[in-house]
Amino acid sequence: MADSCLFCRIARGDIPATIIAENARCIAFRDINAQAPVHALVVPREHVTSLNDLTDGTLFGEMALLAQQVARDEGIAESGWRFVVNTNRDGGQSVYHLHGHILGGRALGWPPG
Ligand code: AMP
Repeated sequence: MADSCLFCRIARGDIPATIIAENARCIAFRDINAQAPVHALVVPREHVTSLNDLTDGTLFGEMALLAQQVARDEGIAESGWRFVVNTNRDGGQSVYHLHGHILGGRALGWPPG
């Protein structure tokens, strides 16, 4: 899986991305098709297919802490932001490597489509 998975390849540095933050277990990079003034993805370095497959809760904690850091660095922590994990078909997941979307920089609608 890791050989062909897009986000594994980005995490390894095989495919370029605009990396804006990282910690020991996760990286954050700008989404290639931004849906908001700030749109970044937080991705674990290890392959986890989706939130359905997560077994290590500390990994999601590391993702959340990196998202928090990005929100601060991007200046949206106080105005507000969203951390979204699309999961499987009806959740709108298109890349099957666990990732959280950081979205902010404008008022975000609710409910999502
Ligand atoms: P999802 O639809 O929740 O699986 O989100 C996948 C996200 O990955 C989408 O928002 C895409 O725009 C984004 N994406 C796909 N390929 C790349 C890439 N090479 N670099 C950065 N973001 C990407």
